[in-house]
Amino acid sequence: MNITRRDFLKIAAVTGGAVAVGTPAVKSVLALGKKPAPLPQYIPTTCEMCFWRCGVIAKVIDGKVVKLEGNPIHPNSRGKLCARGHGGIGLLYDPDRLKTPLINTGSRGEAKFKKASWDEALGYVAEKMVKIKEKYGAESMALLTHGTISTYFMHLLQAYGSPNFAMPSFALCRGARGVAFELTFGEDVGNPERLDLQNSKAVVLIGSHLGENAHNSQCQEFAEAVGKGATLIVLDPRFSTAAGKAKYWLPIRPATDLAILLAWINLIISEGLYDKEYVAKYTSGFSELMQAVKDYTPEWAERETDIPASLIVETGRVLGKNKPHVLIHPGRHTAWYSDNVQRQRAVAILTALLGAYGRPGGIYLNPKKKLEPVFLSDEDYPDHKPELNKGNYPFAGDEGITHAIVKSTITEQPYPIKGWFITGCNIMKAMPNQKETLQAIQKLDLLVAVDMMPYDGVMLADVVLPESTYLERHDDFFVVKERALGISIRQPVVQPMYDTKPGWWIAKELGKKLGLEKYFPWNTFEEFLKKKAEIWGINYSELSKNGYINFPESEKPYILPGEDFKFKTPSGKIELVSKELKEHGFDPVPKYTKHEQPPEGWFRLIYGRAQVHTFSRTTNNPSLWELMEENVAWINARVAKRIGIKNGDYVVLINQDGIKSNKVRAKVTERIRSDCIYIVHGFGSTSKLLKKAYLRGADDQQLISKYAIDPISGSVGMRVNFVKVSKEV
Ligand code: SF4
Repeated sequence: MNITRRDFLKIAAVTGGAVAVGTPAVKSVLALGKKPAPLPQYIPTTCEMCFWRCGVIAKVIDGKVVKLEGNPIHPNSRGKLCARGHGGIGLLYDPDRLKTPLINTGSRGEAKFKKASWDEALGYVAEKMVKIKEKYGAESMALLTHGTISTYFMHLLQAYGSPNFAMPSFALCRGARGVAFELTFGEDVGNPERLDLQNSKAVVLIGSHLGENAHNSQCQEFAEAVGKGATLIVLDPRFSTAAGKAKYWLPIRPATDLAILLAWINLIISEGLYDKEYVAKYTSGFSELMQAVKDYTPEWAERETDIPASLIVETGRVLGKNKPHVLIHPGRHTAWYSDNVQRQRAVAILTALLGAYGRPGGIYLNPKKKLEPVFLSDEDYPDHKPELNKGNYPFAGDEGITHAIVKSTITEQPYPIKGWFITGCNIMKAMPNQKETLQAIQKLDLLVAVDMMPYDGVMLADVVLPESTYLERHDDFFVVKERALGISIRQPVVQPMYDTKPGWWIAKELGKKLGLEKYFPWNTFEEFLKKKAEIWGINYSELSKNGYINFPESEKPYILPGEDFKFKTPSGKIELVSKELKEHGFDPVPKYTKHEQPPEGWFRLIYGRAQVHTFSRTTNNPSLWELMEENVAWINARVAKRIGIKNGDYVVLINQDGIKSNKVRAKVTERIRSDCIYIVHGFGSTSKLLKKAYLRGADDQQLISKYAIDPISGSVGMRVNFVKVSKEV
């Protein structure tokens, strides 16, 4: 059942509606002489238990959050939350939260913290930043960041004079996908991705285990597609939850996905299964593409992938038969090997051949309406030296490359980096080669962490600044690009606990100490939000009351039949052959690259997600920890028998560089190929202050000491590590 905004307003009317924090609950004296029970308040906000940003309604009684529910009018939640979303209460009331500013009195990384006032902690940071600016220049401060807090600290850093910020979410996650789609279609696939799953007739998942990555609305639409009988094709060395729903599970040899994509492209062209009208009208480079892929036959792909040629043909024909209602899921974490952009280009090209971009069941279009950016201030940022956060990667994008910051910090080239902020990201669990990260950290004069929990990366900081959780603070509006454009609000549902502060407040107060007040021309963030709402013509009180508003007239999900649609590429067409790549010396059509396979006795380490955790950020969450306390290592049953490992035994994994994991329980299963070991990412915390998560399970990132760089985007491939397994004695 679709729940409309009107329905929600009815619900709100019955329940008393959304009441702003601080508004006294209506008193009801029903029983004389008895203290009346406080009435619940229902306050909408936006979830931050992952990046999907679902609409949440918090039920608050007597200043305490007792329940979180999905906001029915928000397109990312549709009245439901995933387990992690419900676990927001666990985050709020986690006794291990950071509660006050801390200053490390020991050597770097010793974590001998003393409590400090905000004035003292911010004063300490500002003083160090002034010294760094005087000695090396403002550009020598860098920011590694993730999530909503990025906005405020990127602003602060640029106001101070540095352009050097980087988000792991680009190079270590979805960057390659964005670059490939921009090169092909002139625009990214969106975040959340604009996948029209609810209308798909065939769905291909390539190492993308929907259902285990519990992206709320996407999972809901996926369930709908499966329920309506969509044919599901899953390429995965592991029989994932999604594979359990599939008609075709193709247990592909890892690192060969591009081979099957190229074979499908070749088959679809050679058998004339492509959408001829769409290709003729909207694409360029078809003949060149046809020539470039002609040798990628199903028989050739069989030798690379271990998937029988007959199955490659059969599944390719399924795609052709169901065009254009086909979704080749572009994935999310796409940083696997050194050719990530080219693999994602193949996904984009296949999508185009099937006429599935801008078509029902494929990838729907961006909404028609655009909102002009409203910045945190009108002040221009000072001039600065050339940015180094993009490395030498021609398509690095604006989110920066973490790897480039780390390398420059170690080498001091092209100029030194002497200070890091790490905000909202656990660098020790997000970035590969922990030794390299620690080496960079030792070169710094200042390391400041802003976060909610004492994650491993936070424990390395000189100064720790505790941020309030998303249930205690305002944040910038979220522009939701679903089928129609919408705006989602994050607002406090309870007052901040302990001596914590919102990210915007921390950036502003630090800015004041640095003499940068003019860049923060507002007193409270709500004041800024109200101004922004006015500029965008939004009714702020309606947004605050309902949590979400949209612009229904902006909806235009599909290209209309025969429409003269212009893509935002240089040619105005979908570029099957990329001129831009060619100009930069890269292959204009993806070419297959062979990647190293594990030697005899070794296994490729693959990693993934769990339904109930968001990486290391939730492994200590009391509510979610109860659902999954630690990860397990999936080992093929025949292999396990050969090396004498039984289900539930503790094992250790040792990688090619001799790095040994924590002990982890073996999951002995037929559901994984014999050349891989799989673990869920984010476990094995080394922070003693995370009392539940400390040393629980194995840390995949510790074993990812090797990485491969994609020269096009700077994307950092992390599936290039091999491990051995042995029984823990
Ligand atoms: Fe929150 Fe789950 Fe939505 Fe992520 S998918 S924002 S954790 S409810």
